[in-house]
Amino acid sequence: KSIDLTGRTYVVMGVANKRSIAWAIARSLDEAGAKLVFTYAGERLEKNVKTLAESLEGEHLVLPCDISSDEEIDATFNDIKEQVGTISGVAHCIAFANKEELEGEYLNVTRDGYLLAQNISAYSLTAVCKAARPLMTEGGSVMTLTYLGGERVVKNYNVMGVAKAALDASVKYLANDLGKDGIRVNAISAGPIRTLAAKGIGGFNDVLKEIEEKAPLRKTTTQEEVGDTALFLASDLSRGITGEIIHVDGGYSTLSLV
Ligand code: NAD
Repeated sequence: KSIDLTGRTYVVMGVANKRSIAWAIARSLDEAGAKLVFTYAGERLEKNVKTLAESLEGEHLVLPCDISSDEEIDATFNDIKEQVGTISGVAHCIAFANKEELEGEYLNVTRDGYLLAQNISAYSLTAVCKAARPLMTEGGSVMTLTYLGGERVVKNYNVMGVAKAALDASVKYLANDLGKDGIRVNAISAGPIRTLAAKGIGGFNDVLKEIEEKAPLRKTTTQEEVGDTALFLASDLSRGITGEIIHVDGGYSTLSLV
């Protein structure tokens, strides 16, 4: 093993199915020997997540956690504290917005749709950090997933882009708050990947084609590439990095439009 996480536990939030980026992160951490705690949203996903988790090598635990409820977040992390004690990090791989607001003009967003996207996709990271902090007694690494649409205007990304901008800023403020406890907070800005969440975004196939043609690496991003970057961020190899947004996108974000 090039990176050894034996004896460490990480919480992976946001596995829905085998295409989920969270699942690739879990596999990378599992291969490095980490113990994993999976959290999922809603009973509908329980069986899926349990079946996937059972296919892993190492020890794991599967717990429910709907990120829209502070009570549920607290209950989940209390449960984790009781069952595993100390954790070494969290991978937050969660976002949501109304499908009808992921196409057309951004300014048609409703107040409710705006707040929903902010609540699930941005505020939830702060809520998770608050609940996880007492469990990271020996320091830790918190990771979240973001997208270029938070830094630049990406067609159809709309309200989710505004939520990702808030998420990116949260990463920096949280990194500053938690750095004194030896806890690092970083985001991975992934290139477009065909997942359940991505299905909701208008014109997604055209975006994939554009990346294949124009990204410096001339290929789309894979879940595994993101998983391995998360492994690096979870490990001590990245001990000097916090408050950072690492682009795992084949270099696409470095290009100018002209
Ligand atoms: P996915 O659909 O597999 O994962 C999204 C997860 O969010 C699901 O597991 C879903 O259950 C969870 N979720 C939604 N509402 C929730 C709630 N209230 N409580 C708890 N969990 C909730 O899709 P994905 O693409 O793997 O998305 C993971 C993350 O990666 C998201 O933050 C997404 O914005 C980000 N991302 C995705 C891409 C891409 O192209 N797929 C690119 C950059 C960033």
